[in-house]
Amino acid sequence: ARAPDVARPVTSLPGANGPARPAPQPGAGRTEGPVGRVVVVGSVNADLVVQVQARPRPGETVRGGPLAVGPGGKGANQAVAAAVVGAEVTLVGAVGDDTHADVALRGLRRAGVDLTEVDVAPGATGTAVVVVTPDGENSIVVSPGANGTVQPGRAAAAVDRAPAGAVVVLQLELPAATVEAAVRQAAARGLRVVVNAAPAAALSPAVLAACDPLVVNGSEAAVLLGQDAVGDPAAAARALLALGPRSVVVTLGAEGAVHASQGSEKVRTVTPPRVAVVDTTGAGDAFVGALCAALADGLDLGDAVGLATLVGALAVQRPGAQSSYPDAAEIAEARR
Ligand code: ADP
Repeated sequence: ARAPDVARPVTSLPGANGPARPAPQPGAGRTEGPVGRVVVVGSVNADLVVQVQARPRPGETVRGGPLAVGPGGKGANQAVAAAVVGAEVTLVGAVGDDTHADVALRGLRRAGVDLTEVDVAPGATGTAVVVVTPDGENSIVVSPGANGTVQPGRAAAAVDRAPAGAVVVLQLELPAATVEAAVRQAAARGLRVVVNAAPAAALSPAVLAACDPLVVNGSEAAVLLGQDAVGDPAAAARALLALGPRSVVVTLGAEGAVHASQGSEKVRTVTPPRVAVVDTTGAGDAFVGALCAALADGLDLGDAVGLATLVGALAVQRPGAQSSYPDAAEIAEARR
């Protein structure tokens, strides 16, 4: 275990995993096939979650249930999901030098994710303050903390060190210029780029052109298309494809996902199994991480979306984000 760091300058975490990559937990690791490499350039957060009967109105104080503190951040969640599906995963990002850093990195360490490209920046770790009402609806405030310190050149240099054949995946919780630089570097190296446009924001033409695929949920698709909501998912997929990505995946919750690629008129639908939903937190990240692991393994987009919908459906059956993700044995069982 790493000694607590005291206000040291930005530095990477050479010892984050100890001298060698830790042995994966029982059940983690490969399900089948060669090892795919995934490089996640993304956010690492501590999630502070409280259940409330009703969210506070302006000026109001409400009493909540017990505080749950756990690892989160879209980048970290997707890295853990890719690892449980069997990829060798490197995370590029930053945590602060505060007490939340260890919580934020806990799931990544457990999943055996390589943390040598994670910097420690002076100040706070990214933190999400989450209030959950009895209907399961979340209200979330994210304080970016160290995620906001990841510089474009830093991310591009890490992508330059990525192994040949790696799939590089990004979300939009790092600064936009950092996302842009990492995508450009990956594209220049001919690496496959997956962009999950979450939280929704407009993407530059260069980023859009590199996406293979662009992955969004319904509400993110609506933002990118400048619509109030998406009606027909197939029409949304075609409209997104017209923005320039090589391929696109739109996730649809219980309905699964649709995907489409340039050069083909077809929009295909993949439906997950019917499951009893406990908590959908982190389902989208489970989907994206699994998708990238499958693509890195050489699966075509349709088969990768198939595995991703399955892993997403497993993740909604337990509470939490990373804590809800299945292990390799459960995934193998579900694939049979
Ligand atoms: P997000 O969490 O980003 O809004 P979605 O709600 O579209 O993303 O969910 C992502 C994936 O998680 C879906 O494609 C599906 O595989 C799985 N999933 C989500 N909700 C359900 C559900 N109610 N039943 C089964 N699978 C689900």
